[in-house]
Amino acid sequence: MVRRPGKYTSINVRTSRFLPPKGYFAITFFGRVLIHRRNAGLWEKQKATRSGRILLHHEWIHVKQAVSTHNSWFCFYLRYIYFYLKNKPLRHGTQFAYYANPFEMEAYAHENDLDYARTEPAEGWREYAKLTVEEKYSRFLENII
Ligand SMILES: [Zn+2]
Repeated sequence: MVRRPGKYTSINVRTSRFLPPKGYFAITFFGRVLIHRRNAGLWEKQKATRSGRILLHHEWIHVKQAVSTHNSWFCFYLRYIYFYLKNKPLRHGTQFAYYANPFEMEAYAHENDLDYARTEPAEGWREYAKLTVEEKYSRFLENII
């Protein structure tokens, strides 16, 4: 059952046969973290470690971002796709389009601070969204994002 983003108090992890696509370890899917079955063993070893907690926190930031988009998964995913396409993946590459997505920029910038967005909606993406694609692309080429 899909609940509104604000209804989640913690994140839970499921394994999936289909998601995420190759090259990604985890994906937030309507408030759940999905890890592909091929990585289930790796996740079992990782989940109790700091890097496991950081991964879950990264996904938790996405849940709190969805709270900030009218508490709606639909609005969150629509904006996510819009930001991705605005980064011109065909011209700049899919890696850039992903890392320069304002939702990902906020999540990567704060994933190590495990208290970030613990209770509040995550709104930092709004500042990243003000950057132009060209500004982000030059940062990307300099390895800043
Ligand atoms: Zn992310």
